[in-house]
Amino acid sequence: MAEISDRERIDEALELLWVLDEEGHGELERFIHSSDDPDVPLLTDTLREEGLTAVADGLIRLTDKGRVMARGLVRRQRLAERLFTDVLQMSEDTVLNDACKMEHILSEELTESVCTFLGHPPTCPHGKPIPRGECCKKLRIDIRPVVTGLSEFEVGATGRITFIVPSDPSRISKLNSLGIVAGSVIKLIQKIPSFVLQIDETTVAIDPSIAKEIYLKKVVV
Ligand SMILES: [Zn+2]
Ligand SMILES: [Zn+2]
Repeated sequence: MAEISDRERIDEALELLWVLDEEGHGELERFIHSSDDPDVPLLTDTLREEGLTAVADGLIRLTDKGRVMARGLVRRQRLAERLFTDVLQMSEDTVLNDACKMEHILSEELTESVCTFLGHPPTCPHGKPIPRGECCKKLRIDIRPVVTGLSEFEVGATGRITFIVPSDPSRISKLNSLGIVAGSVIKLIQKIPSFVLQIDETTVAIDPSIAKEIYLKKVVV
């Protein structure tokens, strides 16, 4: 029995099957044509022999075991994409390749931390659903994500700035001069038409486009 020992090739296949399934495609032909694996027939056999897929009537589907694995892989990849675009401000196109590698590095434990840190995002930057994890279930009980963007922050609430990701780096010094730096405690006074923050005794108005780049953690005062 010939088998592929390369985990990564199997992982890539599982992810592809998950994505095809999301798009409503279960045809074996479709899988074969979409895969860029150098030996798709062998790959297909290996998946079946490992109990990850079942093939019948020209359709290939993930077994329960295969689904659990694919789900975890897709979750890690899409969270990695979010991490790269939201926090590191990389473009969505460049992100895919790095995220592809990252899903193999993120441990389950680290995945939960990343998910919590990002506020349990429902979708990746491309708009595809991120499969929920254990941490997201807990969210329903204690509701609040750890870090939220200022745009999503509630008026009247107080938060400590966790980080700022300016699209224009020259903005940082301007924000700094206003007292908007990581570690500052601010109160959100209003959102419309512009964002008004209270920092110590001063109030500062900022543009909504800048508010999007400020992330903070709610503090109870
Ligand atoms: Zn994506
Ligand atoms: Zn989560």
